[in-house]
Amino acid sequence: MRFILFIALIIVLMLAFRMFAGRLQSLLKTLQHKQPGTGGSHQNHPGEAMVRCAHCGIHLPRSEAYTSQGQTWCSEEHARLGHK
Ligand SMILES: [Zn+2]
Repeated sequence: MRFILFIALIIVLMLAFRMFAGRLQSLLKTLQHKQPGTGGSHQNHPGEAMVRCAHCGIHLPRSEAYTSQGQTWCSEEHARLGHK
């Protein structure tokens, strides 16, 4: 009789572990979905294209650059000043 109880205990533990693992997996999935695109971050994305300011020649990520007249600029002021 004790042996059967022992087996039953192991089955219950296995089921509990599987439920826990499933919950953990779904939790990890939601975390992974939340991470990209938090928005408003100033950090450079790895592998993001760098562009050059046509006025001062500084390099900056494309997402932070100003684009006008087919050129890229580091700031609104340099876009207004145009080519050096
Ligand atoms: Zn500039």
